[in-house]
This record gives sequence, structure tokens and C-alpha cells, in this order.
Amino acid sequence: MKRVAFIGLGRMGHGMAGRYLDAGFDVAVWNRSKAKAEDLIARGARWATSPEDAAIDADAVVTMVADDAASRAVWLTKDGAAATMKAGSIAIECSTVSHEHALYLARELRSRGLIYIDCPVTGLPDAAASGKLTLLVGAEPADLERARPFLVPLSSTIRHFGAIGTGTVYKLINNLMGAIQIAGIAEGLAIAEQAGLDMKLVLEAVETGVAASPQVIRHSRRMAARDFAGATFTAALRHKDAAYAVALAESLLSGAPLMGRAAVEAYARAKAYAPDDDEAKMIEIVSRPK
Ligand code: NAP
Repeated sequence: MKRVAFIGLGRMGHGMAGRYLDAGFDVAVWNRSKAKAEDLIARGARWATSPEDAAIDADAVVTMVADDAASRAVWLTKDGAAATMKAGSIAIECSTVSHEHALYLARELRSRGLIYIDCPVTGLPDAAASGKLTLLVGAEPADLERARPFLVPLSSTIRHFGAIGTGTVYKLINNLMGAIQIAGIAEGLAIAEQAGLDMKLVLEAVETGVAASPQVIRHSRRMAARDFAGATFTAALRHKDAAYAVALAESLLSGAPLMGRAAVEAYARAKAYAPDDDEAKMIEIVSRPK
């Protein structure tokens, strides 16, 4: 039986860990707060007392935590997974981290004889729980083949962009473009509201017009209705992704980022206002009186 350690049981990680149980893997789980693991333990997962404990005997360790600091904590500290992973076992980082951190983590883990797979994802928590994520992989081709059995429970859509770090580059540009769009949707709808337009008509026109996109379809009605129930992606995480993307842009492009910086500023305000609420609350930021 394949043994996997899954670390980070938030909105995304909880469903992803469950996929390994469904697929018949031997699963060890760890999360900073244990309560999120209870139902997985009831389904047969072994509770580990630390990432280091989870990684003992694992063929692969998969992590899905918030950001660079959390990733460093679960992989590289004294209690981190790398402390007990066997040489030749597979380290799969699914969290959205900065490009700099992805390269640093890869160097550290590979120097310890581990195989590293850069594997951020797109898809919401429901896709995580149903094995329908898109995996954005940066890895050596032979390493990806060794890791494939541990990726299949998460998705059948694997986009291999190239060497380590390329999955993260794509993820960051994807989420930066998303941040710019979502801030743009909020701004456009807020202008229409203030101008007194019939919002039912506006929504119908927006959703069927040239500006329509999956982001518009996903967010515009909820923004107009101020319906933020069931946060799927928080303002704090969107801000983090946009900030990591802007740092990458600054290292690569002399004339940019133009829109990226504005999106980071907008999401810094959204994060200060309601960090753990849905990113769609951006409409409340742009429509608040000065
Ligand atoms: P979440 O629900 O906020 O979960 C964050 C996870 O990180 C929790 O398990 C949390 O532990 C853990 N964590 C945070 N700081 C930590 C630290 N210092 N040490 C150890 N663990 C720490 O976030 P999420 O939505 O699942 O997102 C997880 C990752 O997936 C992020 O990188 C995000 O950008 C990315 N992502 C999210 C989505 C989405 O739609 N939500 C889609 C694609 C990618 P606790 O439970 O103890 O707080």
C-alpha cells in the first residue's frame, strides 16, 4: 500500500487528504490545529504529532499550507517533514508560495536526497475534495513520472510547465491576473450602483458581454448581492499571491508591474478590512464612502 503524509488541512488540504483515503492509500495527517483532522482520523487516517512524525516511512509527503512562512515551518524546521523523510522519497509542495521560496525549498530538499515536485494548483475547495484540481507542475520529467501515482488522486489534469519553479511562475501569473480582474469587477459594479443603474440589467449585460470571464461569472452576482457566505478564497490569500507575483514581475520586467501593484494595494486594503472573508468583499472596499 502506498504511504502518503498530508500536511495542512485547511479549505483545500482537507479535501485533498480525503482523496488519498478514498484511493486506498495509507495516510498520515498533520495540521497546526488538530480539530480539522478529526473526521479524516475517523475515516482511517493516522494523526501525526508533527510534520516530522507524519513523514516517517512516507513514500511521499504532500503539503497544502498558507504561504512561504508556513511552508518553511512544515518542511524545514526541527519538527519539519524533511527531518525524517527517507532519501529518494517524494516531496510535493502544493501550497502557493513565492518563486524564490519554491527554488530555495527545492535546493534544500534535493540536497537531502529527496525528489522535489513544484505543484501549486488551481480549483476551489469543492474541486480539491472531488479530485478535479488542475496541477501546475514544475519538475524534472523523470521525477514527475515517479510522483505521478501520488498526483493522480488529486487530479487527472496535470500541466507540466518545465523545470522546478515553472509551476509556481504560472500559478502566480494566474492569480495576479485574477486579482486584477476581481478588483476591476468590483470597481465597475460599484460605479454602476452609484450611478443608479438597474443592477439586474447590468449583471445580465456583463455576464454576456465582451468583459465576461469565469471570474466575472463567479463574482459579479455575489458582489452585487453582497453575498459573501462560504468563503472559498480569502482576501489574505489573494493579497499574498498578488504580492508574490509582483515580486516576481519586478525581478523579470523593467516596465512592470503596472496593474499588479494596484491590485496588491487594493488587496492590502481588503485584507486589512476582512482578512479571512471571501475575496469578493473587494466591492465593499471600492464602494465605501471616502
Ligand atoms: P486555509 O483554509 O486558510 O488553510 C491554510 C492552512 O495553512 C491551514 O491548514 C493552516 O493551519 C495552515 N497554516 C497556516 N500558517 C501555518 C503555519 N505557520 N504553520 C503551519 N501551518 C500553517 O487556506 P486554503 O484556502 O486551504 O489555501 C491553502 C493554500 O492553497 C494556499 O497557499 C492558497 O493560496 C492555495 N490555494 C487556495 C485555493 C482556494 O480556493 N482556497 C485555490 C488554489 C490554491 P490551521 O488550520 O491550523 O490554521
